[in-house]
Amino acid sequence: MQHIDEQYIIENFDSALEKGYIKAYYQPVIRTLTEQICSVEALARWQDPEMGLLSPYLFISVLEKNRLIHKLDMMILENICYTYNELREKGLPLHPFSINLSRLDFNEMDMLKAISDILEKYNVPATAIHIEITESVMLDNTAYFRRIFDSFHEAGFAIFMDDFGSGYSSLNVLKDYSFDVLKIDMRFLSDIGIRSKKILSSVVNMAKAIGIHTLAEGVETKEQITFLRTIGCEMLQGYYYSKPMSSEMYIEYLTTSDIIVEARSESDYWDTIGKVNFLSPDPFNEISSDDFPIDDTSVLRESPTSLALIEIDGKKVKFQYSNKAYIDEIKKLGYKNTDEMESAIANMPIVYFKNINEQIELSLKTGKLIKKDHYANDIYFTYSTKCIAKTGNKYMLAASIKTFDPSRNANREQMFEKYSRILIDTYDHITVIDHDNNRIITRLYSKIGFKNEYLTMPLDKARLLFAENEVIESERERFIKFTDFDFVKKHIEKSENSILQQPFHIRNQDGKFLIKDIRIILTTVEEGDRFLFVIQSMSHTAQRMALEALKEDTDMFI
Ligand code: C2E
Ligand code: MG
Ligand code: MG
Repeated sequence: MQHIDEQYIIENFDSALEKGYIKAYYQPVIRTLTEQICSVEALARWQDPEMGLLSPYLFISVLEKNRLIHKLDMMILENICYTYNELREKGLPLHPFSINLSRLDFNEMDMLKAISDILEKYNVPATAIHIEITESVMLDNTAYFRRIFDSFHEAGFAIFMDDFGSGYSSLNVLKDYSFDVLKIDMRFLSDIGIRSKKILSSVVNMAKAIGIHTLAEGVETKEQITFLRTIGCEMLQGYYYSKPMSSEMYIEYLTTSDIIVEARSESDYWDTIGKVNFLSPDPFNEISSDDFPIDDTSVLRESPTSLALIEIDGKKVKFQYSNKAYIDEIKKLGYKNTDEMESAIANMPIVYFKNINEQIELSLKTGKLIKKDHYANDIYFTYSTKCIAKTGNKYMLAASIKTFDPSRNANREQMFEKYSRILIDTYDHITVIDHDNNRIITRLYSKIGFKNEYLTMPLDKARLLFAENEVIESERERFIKFTDFDFVKKHIEKSENSILQQPFHIRNQDGKFLIKDIRIILTTVEEGDRFLFVIQSMSHTAQRMALEALKEDTDMFI
């Protein structure tokens, strides 16, 4: 470590300030989920012509001891304002800046007034400034500092608690003061072993429980980032992303690198999403915002171990976060990972996700927790969704999948089997159709003794012959149109559900024609489209209503 005479610092400080040797360097803060810059911390650097670049560790304590630190801090604030305006003039995206204050600043002057005056001079809003304070600032005189912080909050400043965990009374400080962000120093944890991981998880968990955002500083490795992301730490800062840079270097970095600065209009959105506690056994019930308040009528009681955050932007769907349990569940549905699922959603016609889409739309519209059962790729699953934040046309959906696991729930599996059969028994006839290959695959179930020859001939012939033999003459033309599967597919894609349904008079085993409900259901399997052709008897009331509808002679295909 560099050594420098205390006297040298005191003697040269004023002229160093005047000559501009002391400057703010900037280190970006990264939003964990998006990896965009969400703010920047200003750190003091003294570029001395004789001594070289001096680190704050060398001069901060000397300045504090000699009651000079407030001068430094106000100079750094001026630097920030200057850089802020430079960004503005260059048309670069704006973001907030953090400034570090010393507890001694508050002894020297009315900080709120001093800061507000400088901001006014440079026309910079208070919302562009985050105040970083270490816990030592608040060790004594709680009531006094609480008032001060309240007045800063009222004026629009956010307050960050720096170096959380380094002192003796962090928990007391958390209890007594309202902070916006907790900065956790990764350097306190010499390794990232199991104990450190447990401590960090608990800190993030606790911060979310009391509604404080979390930021990890001193992040140096990919491993740390992966872990911090898993536990839901919202923001990251450290050498892994960038060292502190001079103002010129920072502007160069913004202009030339492909890093993106978070749009101001989206900061509230990400802040709301950041409050989701990925570690909670019941995250859905802790998510609330002005747009989407907690709804205690639809409480999800069991813990959704799987959790994903899915961004919906018109037709575009993007997984912003998913925990291991969620990935495990979607693997059971046949997707390797969320990327594969994203591309399936992007490439498959919307009709295949109709039921899910309907659920999502309901979630977005109501903001309520919606829970529904679905069936896909031979798996039944319960899907829980709740919209948690929105910005413009973009929505963030928290989602949980729980596949129906027969080994864990043998009883429900058995009941399901039993009652599905009973349900099937309410149909007269079900055949499975492979339209792409122009054939009927199988007769799944039938109470009506149709001729077996339909099964052996090509589909296009079978449907004409079926119309001829089994459908009342006056309805044959409509039936042939109804079973034109190209037409069916187009029609289904336009409509709200994957079923086309009309009444027809079908020949019974006794040779008489009876009005029945006929459905064509589009399903999809790995090999391609499959249709179910289903006939069901109707109650007397339903028959009467169907006959009325037929009499009206309206176009049934609208
Ligand atoms: P801090 O506010 O906790 O700032 C973070 C320190 O960690 C900075 O050191 C930064 O350069 C360093 N750092 C950031 N990322 C990494 C990393 O990945 N690995 C490692 N090893 N270090 C990293 P710096 O700039 O030397 O500042 C030291 C402390 O001095 C600051 O700690 C802050 O408490 C104080 N300080 C700095 N500038 C000012 C200022 O303008 N005013 C006041 N009052 N204090 C300041
Ligand atoms: Mg700091
Ligand atoms: Mg710190």
